[in-house]
Amino acid sequence: MKVLKFGGTSVGSAKRIKSVADLVSGNGRKIVVLSAMAGTTNSLEEITRSLYKKDNAGANKVVDKLEKRYTETVDELYTSEEYKKKGRDIVGSYMEHIRSFTVDMFTVYEEKAILAQGELLTTALFYYYMEEQGRSAALIPALDFMRINSNNEPDTTYIEENLKKLLEKHNSEEVLITQGYICRNAFGEIDNLQRGGSDYSASLIGAAIKAEEIQIWTDIDGMHNNDPRVVEGTRSISELSFDEAAELAYFGAKILHPTSVLPAKLANIPVRLLNTLEPDAHGTLISSKQHKNRITAVAAKDNITAIKIKSGRMLLAYGFLRKVFEIFESYRTPIDMITTSEVGVSVTIDSDEHLDEIVEDLKKYGYVEVDKDQVIICIVGDLVAENNGYAYKILEAVKDVPLRMISYGGSNYNVSLLINAKDKERALKALSGKLF
Ligand code: ASP
Ligand code: MG
Repeated sequence: MKVLKFGGTSVGSAKRIKSVADLVSGNGRKIVVLSAMAGTTNSLEEITRSLYKKDNAGANKVVDKLEKRYTETVDELYTSEEYKKKGRDIVGSYMEHIRSFTVDMFTVYEEKAILAQGELLTTALFYYYMEEQGRSAALIPALDFMRINSNNEPDTTYIEENLKKLLEKHNSEEVLITQGYICRNAFGEIDNLQRGGSDYSASLIGAAIKAEEIQIWTDIDGMHNNDPRVVEGTRSISELSFDEAAELAYFGAKILHPTSVLPAKLANIPVRLLNTLEPDAHGTLISSKQHKNRITAVAAKDNITAIKIKSGRMLLAYGFLRKVFEIFESYRTPIDMITTSEVGVSVTIDSDEHLDEIVEDLKKYGYVEVDKDQVIICIVGDLVAENNGYAYKILEAVKDVPLRMISYGGSNYNVSLLINAKDKERALKALSGKLF
């Protein structure tokens, strides 16, 4: 069985929903994971922000706008009066449910419940469309099987067992529709897998059922070998390894959520990135196969802050790095890149939320320097030591760009460079010119 996930823009209008229905019909049983219609989760977040501020009028204004959009979608989506009415009733009841949160106390619990409504609504409308078209489909609610534990990690045993039960219950239907992004937490409350988490849902589901393939459908023809928003003439990469895909997804390639690679990799299930606007195109196939002797792609991650700690005490001392890392850990701030010398260490972070506290604590161990507005350029490929000259080629391409940090040898697939944001465009272009 395959798992097919469609993102917000792929279900962003009545027309798009209809083409998804066509894409998923035929060719055997499958699980179809849907995001909320594009923009919905942002609107729901806006509603929760208003409700935290007790601005009920502001919240209701956004609900009214959502209701209008969904009602128009319903009118266009269904053919018969019967289903148009059914659709309008569903939209009405969801909006009423969202409005009901304006009356009481508002906490994270209510916030998460509101954020879940987008995926619930989209899948309900999609299911009724399949039904109206006489196609074989069933809804399998994510809230009945998708679950995270008290560490906010997926509870894979629970997911596997409960998904299996649902699939057995619906053993005759062809298209099994479920929600991406939403789940329950360790207390059984409604929760989610973080923004953009539908890809993660698809990957967890794929791993749970040992799917033949996980397909992530979006609006471009797979992962590109450089950032198409910055560099002209980029092309789609036809095959990537899990490790390369994980680095690229994390370091900027927006098409796939970084968390979604690991479950597929662990279960060794190929992930295919496909384009709803060009369904027959090859797209990108991510698998355990590592291509030899090539540099595969370049990506950039913005809004990076670099922190340098210089200390005479680091000289010949042990335990220094541990102390430094513990400070970052205590503020739950992940480190992306790291370079060391005998008297200093530089690290990068992508969240400045606790920067001031971190710097204050680091001062105990040495002189601290902070550089904001940095960009990590990540180059992935077969970068094993034996491939002489690859690192040279990369550095030669950026010979005119000031380099703040270089990281090589952390894995066999990656070289990372830290540069000023203002040099990003010319660095990406120079790398494309030299490497591809
Ligand atoms: N609807 C959620 C979001 O916008 C999840 C997703 O689309 O992946 O973040
Ligand atoms: Mg997405």
